[in-house]
Amino acid sequence: AIILFDGKDLSKWKSCDGGKAKWDVHDGVFTVVRNTGGIETKEKFGSFQLHIEWSAPTVIDGESQGRGNSGVFLQGRYEVQILDNYQNETYANGQAGSIYKQKAPLVNAMRKPGEWNTYDIIYNAPVFNEDGTYRVPPTVTVLHNGVLVINNYSIRGITEYVGHPVVEPHGDGPIMLQDHGNPVNFRNIWIRRL
Ligand code: MG
Repeated sequence: AIILFDGKDLSKWKSCDGGKAKWDVHDGVFTVVRNTGGIETKEKFGSFQLHIEWSAPTVIDGESQGRGNSGVFLQGRYEVQILDNYQNETYANGQAGSIYKQKAPLVNAMRKPGEWNTYDIIYNAPVFNEDGTYRVPPTVTVLHNGVLVINNYSIRGITEYVGHPVVEPHGDGPIMLQDHGNPVNFRNIWIRRL
């Protein structure tokens, strides 16, 4: 596997605006710094297995989508939602482990704020027709804390906040992590090309 974060630095990452990743590395983890923007891997990927660990802030601030929100964007486009969904109601397809606004997780597998959650994500990159539509859509499987929450789902397009998913042709892309304004923590990230 390729180690994307080993607790020391963000050398495998950059800011989505092209500069250095501005998130805070401390105590073997890193934390979203509000309003600094998302970060993404310097390397790009096609199909992969990804392991990532995250924890929601221990200070409960906000509710629904405003609480412990971040996200893992596959090939920079397709969001597996990160949210503090521990005793925090929100819309079904916006829960932790959802394919945002497309597919609700099969179950809520959240641990408490401050406890570590794991995502194991198996992703198959799409194949495109000449007209830019999917010939083979991207598919994704997600385990949240070892529990299957997304079972080989065919992604319908970019995970938009509002409106229907848009399909646009693309090649390999980065793993992107979202700055949604909440200090979510991350550790132990690795990826294996498939
Ligand atoms: Mg999000």
